[in-house]
Amino acid sequence: MKKVILVRYGEIMLKGLNRPAFEDRLIRNIKRSLNGLGKTTVSRSQARIYIEPEQDDFDFESAVSRLVRVFGIVSVSIVWKVESDFETIKKHSAEMVRDYVAKLGGSAAAGRESGQANAGGKVSFKVESKRGNKRFPLESPEISRQLGGYLLKNVPGLKVDVNDPDFLFFVEVREYTYIYCDIIPAFGGLPVGTSGKGMLLLSGGIDSPVAGWMMAKRGMEIEAVHFHTYPYTSERAKDKVISLAKILSQYCQRIRLHIVPFTEIQLEINDKCPAEYLTIIMRRAMMRIAERIAAQNGAIALITGESLGQVASQTAEAIAVTNNAVSMPVFRPLIGMDKNEVVEIARKIDTYETSILPYEDCCTVFVAKHPKTKPKLEEAKEYESRLDLEELIGRAVRDTETLDIGD
Ligand code: ATP
Ligand code: MG
Repeated sequence: MKKVILVRYGEIMLKGLNRPAFEDRLIRNIKRSLNGLGKTTVSRSQARIYIEPEQDDFDFESAVSRLVRVFGIVSVSIVWKVESDFETIKKHSAEMVRDYVAKLGGSAAAGRESGQANAGGKVSFKVESKRGNKRFPLESPEISRQLGGYLLKNVPGLKVDVNDPDFLFFVEVREYTYIYCDIIPAFGGLPVGTSGKGMLLLSGGIDSPVAGWMMAKRGMEIEAVHFHTYPYTSERAKDKVISLAKILSQYCQRIRLHIVPFTEIQLEINDKCPAEYLTIIMRRAMMRIAERIAAQNGAIALITGESLGQVASQTAEAIAVTNNAVSMPVFRPLIGMDKNEVVEIARKIDTYETSILPYEDCCTVFVAKHPKTKPKLEEAKEYESRLDLEELIGRAVRDTETLDIGD
């Protein structure tokens, strides 16, 4: 018997002729995510990936917690790999189920809601079999029936319940046979690196980390740009953004973060443009700078955390004026989401607690009391012409600091 990790992937299956490229990328990302945990062999067979550690003290828990953050993976299981021989399967199955029931019994005693597991002290189960190896003499229903009977006889405290079992026991008979009790869900999506590179405008807020995560989930490699208005925004505000990039890097493996000095531009805008246009002109400048840094680094799209109507600068009219500043596609994955939906994802991906740390950001420092909710492009352009934008943007891009986060 050998303990291995079984990885299931989903959508990659749909990619036709591109499928091998998607699978190769997924395997590369998997190997990379396991860096530092010791030697493993990663192999693929019949739309499954198997990870076999070479050492006995392999840390399966850490491996699983990293794998569930690899996009493209739908779920993982820690499984026992045994010879595809029914006597061997039965023996190991009994051993695995005995361990599992002991564990389940402990948590059941600690108060299961249904109380079913405790009724009569028995835990109910059902065997789910799959036979991918047609040379194996029994068909799936027969495997389930015979193995179920064997377990019932050989593991104390069990009963069968095919409708609402306390747990499922899975048997997959392939060249080898894989047995397991748990399926741990992952996020699905596509492997990072299969959808080009996006440049994320990463603030310290709740929305933009979620936006970056969502595009990474669709296979985009992510780089980030942050506008820093020192000393109006503090070093701690910058550290917060670095922390957010670090959390995102657990999903994207590595994030290159560009920190743009934005103070001079903000002061200029503040000085020369009417208050109600400050935010929109600032946002146009951000987009231009981000586009330039994106082009220099091979990114083909910008990503923002905008959501329609959330604030004055995110009305349809304001977004139209902002968008007009650049020609690269701008991905706004949160555009149709409510704040509570975004918060829910932020919690799930672990960025929320960092995002709500109370450090100021540049948009809150220079903000008008009554920003225009329906700005006009011609007016924005007219006010902008009072600035030496080309010069200002060139300087900001040149003085940008770049950090590699993660890995
Ligand atoms: P977030 O929660 O992402 O900060 P928000 O709801 O506060 O978003 P805005 O402050 O209007 O909205 O910003 C809209 C988008 O502009 C952000 O989601 C982000 O993509 C980008 N952005 C705003 N401020 C910055 C900044 N200082 N650096 C980089 N990007 C920024
Ligand atoms: Mg913000």
